[in-house]
Amino acid sequence: MSARPNSLAARDGAYHFHGYTNALKNEQEGGFVVTRGDGPFIYTEEGKEYFDGLSGLWCCALGFGPQPRLIEAARRQMEILPYYHTFTQKVATPTVELAEKLVGLAPVPMSKAYFCNSGSEANDTAIKMVWYFNNALGRPQKKKIIARNKAYHGVTIASGSLTGLPAVHADFDLPVPGILRTDCPHHYRFAEPGESEADFATRCAENLEKLILAEGPETIAAMFAEPVQGAGGVIIPPATYWAKVMPILRKYEILLVADEVICGFGRTGNWWGSQTYGMTPDLVTSAKQLSAGQAPIAAILINQPVYETLRDHSNRLGSFAHGLTYSGHPLAAAVALETLRIYEDLDIVARVRALAPHFARGMQAFAGHPLVGEVRQIGLVGAIELVRDKASHASFDSKLAVGPNLVRIAHDHGLIVRPVVDSICFCPPLVSTEQQLDEMFARFGKALEETHAWLR
Ligand code: PLP
Repeated sequence: MSARPNSLAARDGAYHFHGYTNALKNEQEGGFVVTRGDGPFIYTEEGKEYFDGLSGLWCCALGFGPQPRLIEAARRQMEILPYYHTFTQKVATPTVELAEKLVGLAPVPMSKAYFCNSGSEANDTAIKMVWYFNNALGRPQKKKIIARNKAYHGVTIASGSLTGLPAVHADFDLPVPGILRTDCPHHYRFAEPGESEADFATRCAENLEKLILAEGPETIAAMFAEPVQGAGGVIIPPATYWAKVMPILRKYEILLVADEVICGFGRTGNWWGSQTYGMTPDLVTSAKQLSAGQAPIAAILINQPVYETLRDHSNRLGSFAHGLTYSGHPLAAAVALETLRIYEDLDIVARVRALAPHFARGMQAFAGHPLVGEVRQIGLVGAIELVRDKASHASFDSKLAVGPNLVRIAHDHGLIVRPVVDSICFCPPLVSTEQQLDEMFARFGKALEETHAWLR
């Protein structure tokens, strides 16, 4: 199917090289052009409606319709001061206010906020901070970073190396050296038969400690981890996992960097995923819902001991010689600041908690379906994992591409969801209504039935 001549779709095919896209297919078929939004719905050039069940890329907490307060915040900032930077002590007003606000909201006491433009940049920057930290402490060997299988931390050279998805590495010459991998804590997939969540968590923690001892704790700087692994398939840690992992990191002086890029700002039913799981990170990286996806901005929160070491070393060297032209961009900062105020006015955490049981019921309603192996969710994020055999958890032959096919059928029914192999991920806008979620599940149900019929 090719696009109408001169349509936006055709022009996209002609001129635009997309990320995470089959480039030839886009050139031949043209792009999927979205022209406007309203609540959790988006509309195409042809006027077709889709429920975006992934909030764009896990970011549009407030949906896709115009937000008058964000428009006003952006307009006001453009009128007053459209740009200033953060090098050599300079800063614009909303950047100061946003840093203060984020430190106040942090999941554990934090000292400072550092700004970037994307989650990948935030994780890359956090890696550099961790290396700088250990150089400052005279521990030049303590540099390796632990990340988990199926982690997603971004796509830049360092953050992409932390990402534990083979497609992100293939033919990009990643990962770079110095990245260590540990277990993905997915009980349904990786537990032994009969192994409880707590026993599986113990095994994951023991494997982590074995890895640390085998490599030498004096060579390991940090572990990066999402509270809930999002783009790996919404993998929710088993009970007691974080309570068992954190003491091991402390014991060997390995910093914990919580990647809150998806979980931050209400997604799991608390301001932060770290709160949902009792994590006490040394650094937090955040982006996406920080601005409800409406401006490119990311923030790293840094605790006092780490900050003091970075500060003193910057003083010794004359400067913390890392920064981006758009770090703390005033337009993005103004939008993010107003987004956080909107969340507070909406009492977004209470709202998520009120809607989460309805979301959970809608998800769990599919648990008995013959194709569904596991339904998992927390707050307003979840996944439905499709299997060939419910009893053994056996997956479908990957050549069948069952998950991607279901997602294609769902698309025809006006629903956008994400397949991670055969796990179908859901992450609706936090402001969705119960009726809208019902509509999302109704569209998904049709796609599931058609997929079932196709497989028979
Ligand atoms: N970390 C997590 C947990 C993410 O889900 C993502 C993006 O999906 C990133 C980092 C990278 O963020 P960005 O795409 O803004 O670079």
